[in-house]
Amino acid sequence: MNCPHCAATTTKERAKKTKLGYTTFFCPHCRSTFNERTGTPFNYLEFPTDVVLLVVVWRLRYKLSLRDVAEMFLALTLPVGVANNLFL
Ligand SMILES: [Zn+2]
Repeated sequence: MNCPHCAATTTKERAKKTKLGYTTFFCPHCRSTFNERTGTPFNYLEFPTDVVLLVVVWRLRYKLSLRDVAEMFLALTLPVGVANNLFL
C-alpha cells in the first residue's frame, strides 16, 4: 500500500490492527504509521466502512429516517426475541 503522507511505495504491513480491525502499515521513508482508511473521509469514524455505507444506502434507497436506520441496526445486534419485544 502506498503511503498517504509521502506516496512512498515501500511500506511495511504491521501485525497490529486498529480497534475496528483494519490493517496498519509503517512507512520507513517518512516514519509514519497509517491504516487502510487514513486519508479517506471514513478515517475518524467509530464504525466500520461497510456499516457506514450500508446506513447511507438504506437511508437514500428506502428513504428511511435516521431513527429508523438506528432501530434497524439495534435490532440486528440484539437477539431476535429481545428485538421482537422492543419493536412489535
Ligand atoms: Zn511515507
